Amino acid sequence: MIPADTLAERRAYLEGGLTEISCGHCGARVRARKASPQQTSVQWTTPAARSCARLAAAAGGRPTALVPTCPELRDSIDGAVREGRLEVN
Ligand SMILES: [Zn+2]
Repeated sequence: MIPADTLAERRAYLEGGLTEISCGHCGARVRARKASPQQTSVQWTTPAARSCARLAAAAGGRPTALVPTCPELRDSIDGAVREGRLEVN
């Protein structure tokens, strides 16, 4: 079996620096990339956007594409950076 971290790294390589991150709160799986410590790009898939209640609440009826992230996912992304699973590049 291939460790999940290895798979994440391979995906990041294949998809131009995007790393799959799951929200520690709602379990939504998104792809994230950090271009600098201050700048994070997050790609939400439709199922992920549906599974995150916080994102839906933050959107307040607007398209969820306009909402950058839910607060818990931001924490998950910061944690991934600290653990070296998400590289700033
Ligand atoms: Zn969430």
